[in-house]
Amino acid sequence: MSSVRAYTATSPTAPLTPGTIERREVGPHDVLIDIAYAGVCHSDIHTVRGDWGRVPYPLTVGHEIAGVVAHVGSEVTRHRVGDRVGVGCMVDSCRECVNCRAGVEQYCLRGFTDTYNGTDRDGSVTQGGYSEQIVVDEHFVLRLPESIPFERAAPLLCAGITTYSPLRTWKAGPGTRVAVVGMGGLGHMAVKIAHALGAEVTVLSQSLKKREDGLRFGADHYHATSDPDTFTRLAGTFDLIVNTVSASIDMDAYLDLLALDGTLVSVGAPPEPVPVTLFTLFENRRSFAGSKIGGIDQTQEMLDFCAEHDIAPEVEVIGADQVNDAWERVMASDVRYRFVIDVATLREPATA
Ligand code: NAP
Ligand code: ZN
Ligand code: ZN
Repeated sequence: MSSVRAYTATSPTAPLTPGTIERREVGPHDVLIDIAYAGVCHSDIHTVRGDWGRVPYPLTVGHEIAGVVAHVGSEVTRHRVGDRVGVGCMVDSCRECVNCRAGVEQYCLRGFTDTYNGTDRDGSVTQGGYSEQIVVDEHFVLRLPESIPFERAAPLLCAGITTYSPLRTWKAGPGTRVAVVGMGGLGHMAVKIAHALGAEVTVLSQSLKKREDGLRFGADHYHATSDPDTFTRLAGTFDLIVNTVSASIDMDAYLDLLALDGTLVSVGAPPEPVPVTLFTLFENRRSFAGSKIGGIDQTQEMLDFCAEHDIAPEVEVIGADQVNDAWERVMASDVRYRFVIDVATLREPATA
């Protein structure tokens, strides 16, 4: 075991505070990573604040991890010391069930191991990326393309794959009309990726404040959902809607925007159940779906796709001591478009 510095939650309401956590010894198939940057995902906040259920404190969150391999176990073949690597939301799965074999470890029938708030092999609670180092099985470690800097690569490990995966599943591409609801961390990546896939992209945001940005990211159209006219004008016009909103929205109002055989896929994960009126689905033979992150092979595919298409998240790099303010700004939809913690600031001795 080794002790590493981390920024940690001690209760649903208290600010995160600096401390230390333990990392397991590097096993034969493990990789030790010196973390360079860790992205701030809204899921970190939902988890710590108890939106999705009780969690064991203290808990260190963070599942958008980019860094450098510092040490490898004796059997490791996929990575070498010095490699630029990333870790997302999963650090293990059974690797034997039909879903794991199909490369969709996020749907492991025995449950994958979350990067934080999961149960590790030794029974302890996994601890995430707001920390100096992490030990992960080589299978769950991704290769970062050279052209993407660490701080911009980190958010791809959750925001990137969570939007890439449904866009591929529901075949966004030339001739498809895709709407993205909410333009935060996930949403802005959905816009960039859908555009790179060749789809006609519309952003549905609460206001027009980020319109210029949306168009720059590749959106063809941008509408405010605060304007009731938006829902009248756009009724029945989308093949695919990707909902990235972290709060409950009036799902029926958005389902009404789907064309024949259209699908609304929700990746946003509000705490409450969301009511849907079946009669809204009957119309236009619509589908309402969900999607969870993406498998390891598809995550690598997404990283390589982003490098090839020269797309990466827009980030605001912060010191670890700014993370509590950053969380408040995420809660206020005031994020442009992903906060990323510079983990070097954890290593520096605190100034008096
Ligand atoms: P985020 O950066 O906070 O973005 C969410 C966006 O939703 C905001 O920027 C805002 O966009 C919009 N929004 C927020 N509150 C709203 C409200 N009350 N009404 C209408 N729109 C609102 O969050 P994120 O990190 O992208 O995560 C988004 C959601 O996805 C979270 O619930 C997260 O837990 C979930 N998630 C799911 C998966 C998965 O596998 N399914 C993976 C990662 C994250 P505008 O300002 O443009 O309106
Ligand atoms: Zn996430
Ligand atoms: Zn499995």
